[in-house]
Amino acid sequence: MQTTQKNSAADSAPTLTPFTGAPRRLTILGATGSIGRSTADVIAAAPGRFVVEAVVGGRDAQALAKMAIELGAACAVLADPKGYQALVALLAGTGIEVGAGPEAVVEAALRPADIIVAAISGAAGVAPTHAALAAGRTIALANKECLVCAGAAFMATAKRSGAQLLPMDSEHNAIHQALGGADPATIEKMILTASGGPFRTWTREAIDAATPAQALAHPNWSMGPKISVDSASLMNKGLELIEAHFLFGVEAARLDVLVHPQSIVHGLVAFSDGAVTAGMAHPDMKTPIAHCLAWPERIPTKVRRLDLAELGSLTFERADTDRFPALRIAMDAMRHGAGMPTVLNGANEIAVARFLSGSIGFRDIARSVEAVCEAMERAGEAGEPLSVDDALAVDHIARERARIHLDGRPHSGALSG
Ligand code: NAD
Ligand code: MG
Repeated sequence: MQTTQKNSAADSAPTLTPFTGAPRRLTILGATGSIGRSTADVIAAAPGRFVVEAVVGGRDAQALAKMAIELGAACAVLADPKGYQALVALLAGTGIEVGAGPEAVVEAALRPADIIVAAISGAAGVAPTHAALAAGRTIALANKECLVCAGAAFMATAKRSGAQLLPMDSEHNAIHQALGGADPATIEKMILTASGGPFRTWTREAIDAATPAQALAHPNWSMGPKISVDSASLMNKGLELIEAHFLFGVEAARLDVLVHPQSIVHGLVAFSDGAVTAGMAHPDMKTPIAHCLAWPERIPTKVRRLDLAELGSLTFERADTDRFPALRIAMDAMRHGAGMPTVLNGANEIAVARFLSGSIGFRDIARSVEAVCEAMERAGEAGEPLSVDDALAVDHIARERARIHLDGRPHSGALSG
């Protein structure tokens, strides 16, 4: 299917087969999550356009079996081997092939498909997504942690295999559309918007003491727990800057963030002649998902239509890195380069999981990530990861250091009283 060398969304030209004959074959990694469920909705709204080859989930056999049946998938794979028997029982008599375990996840990602929807949460998505990329598959990328953890290796693999990366993250998808095939040299700035999350107007003290329930209550988007916490800390925007850096091949100095509480404008491109193009839509992931699945064509969705007169006004403000230190730490990691984004991502995943389980406070997330970044720089452990294996080795050390850091200090924030 892939015939030309493509390594970034910015220089991408259509290489997918148009919708004239057979439906497109999709595999969904992370099918039971928020993006996975929205992808199922987009598929249901476009009858005859798509068939589903494989669905992959983490631990929930019941949710995966339901999704596999609903989508008529040929194969269903659970990452957790302990769920294998349950999945077999749930899918008995359906003819759907069943697998479980990390190797089965990679095998599922390598089954013949036109597009792989990469929607696993976190660096757990790196191995299967990279395997599909290396095999030349078109990837619709929601899983930003892949690029933060192993961006240089991913882009090098895409170049080698000729595989295409379609940005599904809403800001990057908007920028992909706003670019319109422009010459990268004419781009002065790429701007990602941030809603500001649930704590946009809160004081530093109130943010530091925030609870998991407060962090999960995002004003505009309904998402999985990890990305919701990242959105509350603005770490998500930092991860997205790093994602944009790799995806579009644009250096840190030309990347910026703008807080936009209404989440209508998702991304902007400022050109050397003073023109600015923007990607707009209501905050609903079904729009960027549909854009990726149909690309370079378009398919109808049922998402709410944009009525700017009804909205009346859109507002913008600068990001406050004093109240949201995670954004500053992520920007520093991006500017530092080499293995620092990998370290940032691994340490953040541990801290967010600890915060969600109630064992650390909100402010401990940024503090521990910064401490791990500094410690690994001092120890010379944040060198450039040239391969995915190198990146996963750095990620492993970052996680270990984050665990040690969080276990070895008293808790603070909401839980310290
Ligand atoms: P989620 O937590 O709702 O879903 C994650 C999915 O990954 C689930 O299906 C889960 O079972 C699966 N999974 C978890 N661990 C796994 C493992 N080890 N192996 C295989 N599967 C595993 O998360 P989400 O909100 O859907 O986000 C998924 C990805 O998309 C994240 O990287 C996120 O940053 C990105 N993203 C999400 C949104 C959104 O609106 N939800 C928007 C932009 C980008
Ligand atoms: Mg986003």
